Amino acid sequence: MFVKVIIDISHEAVDRPFEYIVPPSLEGKVSEGSRVIVPFGAGNKERKAYVVALSDKAEYPVERLKSIIAIDEKAVGIEDELFAMAAWMRHRYGCTMNTALQTVLPVKKKIKENIYKVVSLNVSGDALEAALDESKKSARFAARLRLLKELMQSESLPLSMITGKLGVSASVVNTMAKNGLVRIDSQREYRNPKAPSMARKDIVLSDEQQAAIKSIADRMHSDNPGTTLLHGITGSGKTEVYIELIQRAIDDGKQAIVLIPEIALTFQTLMRFYSRFGDRVSVIHSRLSEGERYDQYEKARTGKLDIIIGPRSALFVPFDRLGIIIIDEEHETSYKSEKMPKYHAREVAEYIAEKKKALLLLGSATPSIDSFYRAKSGKYDIEVLSNRNGGAKPATVHVADMRQELKNGNKSYFSKKLKDLLRMRLLKGEQTMLFINRRGLAGFVSCRDCGFVQKCPHCDVSLSEHAGGKLVCHYCGFSMDKPTLCPECGSKFFAGFRAGTEKIEQEIKKLMPGARVLRMDADTTKNKDDYEKILSAFSAGEADVLVGTQMIVKGHDFPNVTLVGVVAADLSLYASDYRAAERTFQLITQAAGRAGRGNKAGDVVVQTYQPDSYAIVHAVNQDYAGFYNEEVLYRDLADYPPLSHMMAVQLYSASEELADNTAAEIVAGLKGHFNDKVIIGPAKAVISRINDVHRMVIYIKDSEIDELIAVKDYVDGMSAGLDKNKISIQYDIDPIGSF
Ligand code: ADP
Ligand code: ZN
Ligand code: ZN
Repeated sequence: MFVKVIIDISHEAVDRPFEYIVPPSLEGKVSEGSRVIVPFGAGNKERKAYVVALSDKAEYPVERLKSIIAIDEKAVGIEDELFAMAAWMRHRYGCTMNTALQTVLPVKKKIKENIYKVVSLNVSGDALEAALDESKKSARFAARLRLLKELMQSESLPLSMITGKLGVSASVVNTMAKNGLVRIDSQREYRNPKAPSMARKDIVLSDEQQAAIKSIADRMHSDNPGTTLLHGITGSGKTEVYIELIQRAIDDGKQAIVLIPEIALTFQTLMRFYSRFGDRVSVIHSRLSEGERYDQYEKARTGKLDIIIGPRSALFVPFDRLGIIIIDEEHETSYKSEKMPKYHAREVAEYIAEKKKALLLLGSATPSIDSFYRAKSGKYDIEVLSNRNGGAKPATVHVADMRQELKNGNKSYFSKKLKDLLRMRLLKGEQTMLFINRRGLAGFVSCRDCGFVQKCPHCDVSLSEHAGGKLVCHYCGFSMDKPTLCPECGSKFFAGFRAGTEKIEQEIKKLMPGARVLRMDADTTKNKDDYEKILSAFSAGEADVLVGTQMIVKGHDFPNVTLVGVVAADLSLYASDYRAAERTFQLITQAAGRAGRGNKAGDVVVQTYQPDSYAIVHAVNQDYAGFYNEEVLYRDLADYPPLSHMMAVQLYSASEELADNTAAEIVAGLKGHFNDKVIIGPAKAVISRINDVHRMVIYIKDSEIDELIAVKDYVDGMSAGLDKNKISIQYDIDPIGSF
């Protein structure tokens, strides 16, 4: 036997393994993931190494290879921990050791010394007043006003944050500098903006918050902190609870990881953490270069940070004294990786927390069925926050039955109720958010005579109609001119089912010509900063209506939003996976949470063709427990997670025949070997082709996760001889969304 090992994670590139012989005495004892001692270099110095691959053939001439000396039993350092985690991920989710290591380890890249620019106010007193007055005069100066207001709260702000998260363009900042309103300085190290202590609202935690903090802190200080679910409605002060718990962890000399979906990592959220913890916090996000990311890891490793905030990859920041991991909005699907290894941040966090004896805190207004089930069955502790802070009342939810609207002769996208309430908001100068589910589901073009739907020739999804008569594919970007007649039957009734964001925007403009409308969807947020710009502009009152897809996010307070419309609540019910009801419930509940955060009363209008579906009924009543009880029954009946487990074996190949045959062989092999398991398929994936790659899927269900891992390893064995360039196989355990 031969192995490939990595000698030293901290110095060599991970993709440079060395080959060694496994001596007969160690055969059977060494496996992928083992730590071993090897002779290294000219002096044959003994070094610790990590096994990343095993094989019975050597790649190099055997006479030039050295042998492993021993297996290393003692694992102590942070590298051992990271390596063990990679080995666990490989086992749990199915991928190569290399892929697992690349997920877990930071890419080694030194950064050139950067110069960071910071911006601060250059005027005060009357001059500042004058500048503020001037900026209020015209909507054209909205960005300038926004920056002035923020700079009054902070000593200075990094330029990158102003042009990024605050949504103020560099040219605006430069003009302001030229006019002497602000100063731009350079510094060597990135510093978080630090608010003068005055700027932070003095918050007296409510009894409910204090009780939750006490119980959680007691567990955090115990030997077995476990996982706690914090179920608190939107605006109940969960973030304040996180901040207080982090403070207590730090007071004990511990460190904290906070996961927030990238989309919710807004200026306002970051400022809450910065103003409390200053330069002891760092943020990891997708816009960091590899060098900058590595820099953060180094700071963490050398103890220069106490808190890291970021999306799921922030879990892999090497903290030695970790005390708490917080996952905010724990129900968000972005916590599940879509690439191999297809891990869920919650599961990996549980693994890390257990190893580190740290507490795992999951927060949500609409906990995932998975987490709530675990809380109910005693696996997690649970704390509840049921009051909104500042006494804001929950919004009133109205249901609009769109079938009835049609019968009454209303053919528009808006029910009478929504139109009436929207008009009132415009009169009162209050804001409205209109939410329509993911684009791509809507906007397809079909023939009313023969039913033909225009699909992408490469991806097997329907094309969406865009302004300018173009049909576009949202997977591969394919686009074509819209035919005027149906290509199948020649009918002229060939038109779009237009309920996309763009259409809604046009409709409002037609209905209420005076309304200022902002739109947020994949088209208007092509650049990463666009998202922030739109939210900041809306939050600053630069529009009356925001039409959007993924806009139900936290992190932004919109105190002037008093109306939320869910334009087509059913769209997510049509999705073809078992979590469709859960997602619909979450969307409506989160949308409702957006209305009336200030002290004005809020309204929510849910438009639906299925007002009796349980997801919609319970969401409208804001009854989480009611929804949970029905949903869990359905999951139980159908053997879906969390009551059972499910694994998708996904096949990708340019050859449809190869994909078909391989899938059939795998199913036959599994049926022969695991006759006690539910095996479904093979079937074409919901999207059976992307970029001319065919996709097949096989589902296996079992109540025990370890049984599914055994199935995965068996499939790995069966497929070992396949040409990886022609067909690839991936695993997704307890998948989210449809494949
Ligand atoms: P969540 O994270 O649950 O949505 P937040 O922590 O963002 O809630 O709180 C919502 C708003 O209420 C924030 O503006 C926050 O500063 C404020 N808030 C939270 N707790 C209190 C409190 N005890 N007293 C006053 N305001 C509070
Ligand atoms: Zn037709
Ligand atoms: Zn396509």
